[in-house]
Amino acid sequence: MKPITEFYPHLTESKKVVITTHQKPDGHAMGSSLALFHFLKSLGHQVTVISPTNWADFLDWMPGADQVIDYEMSRDKAKKIIKEAGILFCLDFNILHRTKNLEKPLEEADCIKILIDHHQQPQEEAFDYGISDVGKSSTCEIVYDFIVQSGHSDKLNTDMATCLYTGVMTDTGSFRFPSTKPSVHRMIAHLKEIGFDHTIIHENIYDNFLENRLRFIGNALLNRMDVLYEYNTALMYIPKSDILKYDIKTGDTEGLVNYLLTIQGIKFGAIVIDRDEERKWSFRSKGNFDVNTFARLHFEGGGHFHAAGGRSSDSLDQTVKKFYQVIKQYENQLQ
Ligand code: 5GP
Repeated sequence: MKPITEFYPHLTESKKVVITTHQKPDGHAMGSSLALFHFLKSLGHQVTVISPTNWADFLDWMPGADQVIDYEMSRDKAKKIIKEAGILFCLDFNILHRTKNLEKPLEEADCIKILIDHHQQPQEEAFDYGISDVGKSSTCEIVYDFIVQSGHSDKLNTDMATCLYTGVMTDTGSFRFPSTKPSVHRMIAHLKEIGFDHTIIHENIYDNFLENRLRFIGNALLNRMDVLYEYNTALMYIPKSDILKYDIKTGDTEGLVNYLLTIQGIKFGAIVIDRDEERKWSFRSKGNFDVNTFARLHFEGGGHFHAAGGRSSDSLDQTVKKFYQVIKQYENQLQ
């Protein structure tokens, strides 16, 4: 993978471009993809964003979201667009299998492939150019740098600012994580000068759920949570029956894992949700406990030091049992 700076001279050669991101894209995956979408369009490219799967309804207000193709809904159309593309941008993931069923078409695409991401251990051989900077708060911050450093900051507009802010806000826990360096606040100040309404963005993302989601969370906190004080760990497990009972949709479980770290002394929070095809884990930590390594070693996952995800093909009961087994190895680290 060559540095992305070597691609800058080709940026103004008009091409068919595809932008994609990880499955079940959240605010930062959508924010970074759509900001890049608006930017590349402003340079005259023909751009399509293809999501591997659906996304939460509460992201539909984002500028450009109505033009995103859901691969699971329009496979043939998406495959054709990928085949015809001259450039493929992969955003907010660094291993092709995180795009689920889209992995094969992306692998087979015969075009320039570019990675823009901030997760650990990128699959560098899969990309021609790229930037993978784990020191950055978010993929959105890297997209912003990409626009500015390639000499096109004059192209930044309200749509791009809205998408970038949404992504940085959601990926930094509303600017509270340690990755929120001065450069993030400088970027936001610049974007505010260009213009966007941060209050509306907050409301659209955080105050936009149905009653059933709150009832579901109440039930999860009351009946689906174990606190393992000897390991300073809290665990939550959501059976399929809860998902059905409360009519839980994509995006409704986002942020649930963060409740676990609000308990005094808890350094490691883990939640596992029984999805149709797999049991999906989310891990969060505080201090010196590395959940990226934990997820890679035990649950086929990865991510960041303090926030990672993983999966299991076992039943919910089995994967929870495995968690109880493996956590024993970490007793010292979690003190
Ligand atoms: P979340 O728990 O919010 O789904 O994910 C936390 C972080 O871990 C995000 O940066 C996400 O991209 C990453 N992540 C989630 N699931 C996986 C996974 O299965 N594999 C890898 N490599 N990263 C993941």
